[in-house]
Amino acid sequence: MSPRSILRVAIPIPRYQSFDYLPPPGLTAEEILLGSRLLVPFGKGSRCGLVIGHAAKTPIKAQQLKAAIRLLDEEPLLPSASTDLILWAAEYYRHPVGEAAFSALPSRLRRGGAIRVPGVQGWRLTEAGAAIDSLQLRKAPKQAQILQTLKAADEPLPQPQLLARAEATPQVLRALAEKGWIQGLRLRKDLYDTPREPRRPLELNSDQRRALRAMAQALSGFRVFLLHGVTGSGKTEVYLSLAERHIRAGHQILILVPEIALTPQLMRRIQRRIEAPIALLHSGLSEGEREAAWLAARSGTARVLIGTRSAVFTPLPNLGLIIVDEEHDLSFKQQEGFRYSARDLAIVRSRQCGCPVVLGSATPSLESLRNAAAGRYRMLHLPQRAGDARPPRVDLLDIRGSHLRGGLSPLMLELLRAELAAGNQVLLFLNRRGYAPVLICHACGWVSNCPHCDARMTLHKSESTLRCHHCGQQQAPPTQCPNCDSAEPPRPIGQGTERLEEVLREHYPGHSVARIDRDSTRRKGSLERSLEEIRAGTHRILLGTQMLAKGHHFPEVTLVGILDVDQGLYGADYRAAERMAQLIVQVAGRAGRAHRPGRVVLQTRHPDHPLLLTLVRHGYPAFAEVALQERAEAGLPPFSHQALLRAEALNPNAASSFLGHAARQATALAGGAVEIWGPVPAPMERRGGRTRAQLLVQSTSRERLQRLLASWIPRIAEGPNEGRVRWSLDVDPQEVL
Ligand code: ADP
Ligand code: ZN
Ligand code: ZN
Repeated sequence: MSPRSILRVAIPIPRYQSFDYLPPPGLTAEEILLGSRLLVPFGKGSRCGLVIGHAAKTPIKAQQLKAAIRLLDEEPLLPSASTDLILWAAEYYRHPVGEAAFSALPSRLRRGGAIRVPGVQGWRLTEAGAAIDSLQLRKAPKQAQILQTLKAADEPLPQPQLLARAEATPQVLRALAEKGWIQGLRLRKDLYDTPREPRRPLELNSDQRRALRAMAQALSGFRVFLLHGVTGSGKTEVYLSLAERHIRAGHQILILVPEIALTPQLMRRIQRRIEAPIALLHSGLSEGEREAAWLAARSGTARVLIGTRSAVFTPLPNLGLIIVDEEHDLSFKQQEGFRYSARDLAIVRSRQCGCPVVLGSATPSLESLRNAAAGRYRMLHLPQRAGDARPPRVDLLDIRGSHLRGGLSPLMLELLRAELAAGNQVLLFLNRRGYAPVLICHACGWVSNCPHCDARMTLHKSESTLRCHHCGQQQAPPTQCPNCDSAEPPRPIGQGTERLEEVLREHYPGHSVARIDRDSTRRKGSLERSLEEIRAGTHRILLGTQMLAKGHHFPEVTLVGILDVDQGLYGADYRAAERMAQLIVQVAGRAGRAHRPGRVVLQTRHPDHPLLLTLVRHGYPAFAEVALQERAEAGLPPFSHQALLRAEALNPNAASSFLGHAARQATALAGGAVEIWGPVPAPMERRGGRTRAQLLVQSTSRERLQRLLASWIPRIAEGPNEGRVRWSLDVDPQEVL
């Protein structure tokens, strides 16, 4: 057999290996480029696969080695940079390579659909072309005319328009393209024709200028910047100014954000400032829209791609900058299936393509702070709010022994009354939706447990249902205790946002209330409408869950109340305190952004909690320092690296015995280089009728941990699985629940 005559193909099924094929009739393996899709025979039918490698040899016997049926792509669907990233990620997260490769593709392309390049043929000036003096082209006046037209337009032009303006023929374009002075591209009308409001770039303050200078010093080459700027310090302005420079250098830019649907303001700002085609990629789009955006990025037409985590895999042939906004946000980690971290992959991608990456946050993750301290990232600070906004004052409110109404202490009620009377807006934050987290019978002690989970059913009063937030179980609330014949029905205990809303309406009847949580914003467009009304001042009282903590500006808000701080301080997860601190700082950042000073009041029963005190008195950096010290002493991430093997089964013992077996295998394979903890029951042991357990492996060396996973996970996958255990691996888990 000739060298490298075998194709390695990734097929989207839950198997770790790739599959070997001979090229389809009429083609040699070398004619088929990496990243191309092939139709291949598979089982009794055929599948669409992706070429991820070429090989000289295969372990498959000659008579069993099949030829691919057909090549689906004339040019590779994915450039080699994309396949490199996918292969890296599949290996690092130990995920079946075919599933990893196909998960980020638009669904029609996943099924083998043809690449349709949307839009019309257009042309743009290259850097070399822009540097040409038209006097040099006296002998080719038409060519000079084309260059002149593109320069004057300052943006790519559709071919018909360009030829008409320059009074030239297509041959002239071809001649210029051959010289490398212009470049063809597909223009998407909808990308170009968005009407832009006149842009008003702000004059950057000195901190912003310093950060921009550091980041714009070299527009290429791999470097990681951690932009730590307090909320309202003008990080977004810095991103925009940096992005403009990369756009001028001809680069594409990838901006990853936690949740686009929640940040329409950010979107509008970027669209207003960046004079280049922008594509969006997020879950709120239709399949067609997603595909169009993906293809526009792949063809180079879209110069900026803004997306949520899966956008990190999108092909961008001219990628020159990645920005990860709110890098600490949990939503960058996919929590099911292919459990990758888009933030971490953004860094890998930048390294692979040799471009800078900016991680921005008001509350950087402890991991990123640690990386900055170790010199791997360059830290840049924006310590002050931009413009003349002042930082909010933060106070702890001791609620031990106070009588709460709807979760509000008398003092909080009084503070709210005073703010409202002064005509200000107030914001209340309670991270629990529904009316009440549990129903209890006061006669016998019956509680509204979920029949399938170790959890309580939440009362949703307006829909008159009891709902389990873990498995989706729903039922009507009992009108009488199911357990005794008490005359009184079980009563709701504790607070949810729905009940808080009710109490606020009772207390402040003259003021309009807006509630923002997953229940109140289920209908498409309702969140945008509420935010619009809040900005217009229709509502004076805002309340919500963590949805309210993400990137919104509420300049009229002067008082923020956080009602359930303690829940976060004593969470089961060792990251609970970090998350709570981030949330407090983010929520606090919503207050008093303009000329009105803000105040933040935290209700707590633990006013002496050391981490909370550090946060309130000395701010997030001081908190992070103490928290990092605690992690270092405990040997927890970021001072070690973890992977969590989770298992669940209907049979109550199957998951833990499966993990017990896995633990023995790991112990034998690791030879002491990796710590193995467990198996232990999962923090919520029963969920959806299944019993769950987990096994944690940890090492101070990422490499050793990876080496163990490489030999261990395939064994688990191929080993016996009695009792139909469902299992999954989570590398760098963010939640151990
Ligand atoms: P962040 O992204 O850090 O929260 P933004 O970039 O959204 O901060 O800026 C916060 C507010 O301050 C915005 O209203 C913005 O228009 C304003 N702002 C930012 N930079 C400046 C500046 N240099 N001068 C005046 N106002 C600014
Ligand atoms: Zn009862
Ligand atoms: Zn349940």
